[in-house]
Amino acid sequence: MFLEMCVSQQAGEKVSEPVSCPECHTACSALRLQQKDFSTLCGEIGICRWVYQCEQGHRSAPWDLEQELLDRYTRRVAEMMCRLAIQLDFREAADELLRQSIEASHTTLHQKVSEWSADLDVPE
Ligand SMILES: [Zn+2]
Repeated sequence: MFLEMCVSQQAGEKVSEPVSCPECHTACSALRLQQKDFSTLCGEIGICRWVYQCEQGHRSAPWDLEQELLDRYTRRVAEMMCRLAIQLDFREAADELLRQSIEASHTTLHQKVSEWSADLDVPE
């Protein structure tokens, strides 16, 4: 809870403008504060952060990019998911993650790990 409060407060501040769209690189304007749940090594936290929109209608959350989040997982969680998936089978890895309060089904795990293994530096 404490972590959630601290992070939310930091994430709830607007980024110093201008924000450029990661897709088309035009200027974005602040759209609204939107809550999203993230998995961290300390469990699930709900973060309110600013979502921006460009003239083309692309939406982005600079805070997510700044934190190097992979979907709804922090980078360290993503690395742990990959490590466990290498050591165990996907079902066992999913059980182990649940013990760390990280919810990911074995199908999600399979999908994410193959998606991420290219950019994450995980020792085999
Ligand atoms: Zn755009």
